[in-house]
Amino acid sequence: MVALTFDDGPHSKNTDDILNILSKYNAYATFFMLGSNAEKYPDVVKRVFDAGNEIGIHTWSHKELTKLSSDEIKKEVDNTASKIEKITGKRPTLVRPPYGSINENVKNTIDNPLILWNVDSLDWKSRDKEKIVPLVLNDVQDGDIILLHDIHSTTVPAVEEILKYLVENDYQVITVSQMLNAKGYDLTKTRVFYSARQ
Ligand code: ZN
Repeated sequence: MVALTFDDGPHSKNTDDILNILSKYNAYATFFMLGSNAEKYPDVVKRVFDAGNEIGIHTWSHKELTKLSSDEIKKEVDNTASKIEKITGKRPTLVRPPYGSINENVKNTIDNPLILWNVDSLDWKSRDKEKIVPLVLNDVQDGDIILLHDIHSTTVPAVEEILKYLVENDYQVITVSQMLNAKGYDLTKTRVFYSARQ
């Protein structure tokens, strides 16, 4: 099993395009949303949730949490969780810190699992399917957490190819929580996860 994760959305079009591809392959993903974008596109948030995907917290305004006070960190996380809960009825728990930046203060302040990644598609940088797909698939293994961004249109065709390969090679493509639960991890505690490789 592997988990595809999408950061920085939701986006007015690309997120829906990715939802269509996921449903075509009977796959599910985790979308780490910005509160500011969830506020702009509540209908997209609802569609992501209603399709059976997981929504996580990527803070309200994408600031580097290591540069904020504990109070500011709490506000970034809680305001985003409340906005998403208001739209979907379910309070998200998983947190992905912007830029993957964490330190002791971030870990001590946030009472939720912090979800980093072990496979970086660099899709935000290359904006090129021919570069994104091999970066993800060359070394894909059971338990991987793969970082993508649903705000870039160039990521959409890459997701189609990645999913086609994963499904053809019998990987289950499921949410981060489903994968970590299936691997026996306790998600009620603060803990940093990079993958579920064992
Ligand atoms: Zn981000």
